[in-house]
Amino acid sequence: MTGADDRSASAFVATSAARSGLPDFAVDERGVASGTRFVASPNFDERPAGTAVTLLVVHGISLPPGAFGGDAVLALFTKRLDSGAHPYYARIAGLRVAAHFLIRRDGEVIQFVACARRAWHAGSSAWRGRARCNDFSIGIELEGADDVPYADAQYISLARLARGLRARYPVRDIAGHADIAPGRKTDPGAAFDWTRLDALLADAP
Ligand SMILES: [Zn+2]
Repeated sequence: MTGADDRSASAFVATSAARSGLPDFAVDERGVASGTRFVASPNFDERPAGTAVTLLVVHGISLPPGAFGGDAVLALFTKRLDSGAHPYYARIAGLRVAAHFLIRRDGEVIQFVACARRAWHAGSSAWRGRARCNDFSIGIELEGADDVPYADAQYISLARLARGLRARYPVRDIAGHADIAPGRKTDPGAAFDWTRLDALLADAP
């Protein structure tokens, strides 16, 4: 894709968001976003005392990898994944992982952990020289795969969510999982268009 194509695609999405009339997600004191579906996960604990949330981490996930629309990601994040349902699941069913949010292909936002708490999404990681990104970040999973374009509805929901989170927390950066765990993680992958997200976040509210 050429740079010119990138710019026109970003402009289109930004226009779509502005015309959607959809508000940012309001985030309450516990870090629960209104207008989302809450599916409680046990895969969290408390952030270190006095730790501010300064980073949003964008992830991509699908289970089985490359298959969209099922409930396996929800099952993984709530420790209900059937290890026998797919060969890949046997390797991951025992993991204790969850992001704070999952944005599905149609833009639906599901929350698993209140943002005041530390969800286990980043693993071994560092950002700006600071290790253990789970301590000071919010994890947002996009249902997807590294090499499959993410859906317009996902960019719009992500922007609405990021704006709401920035209104609640002193967020300095938005980074990909691959950026905080280079060499170990690749998501959200080359298919994630950071220019589109920047355009949506620059758009007047
Ligand atoms: Zn990830």
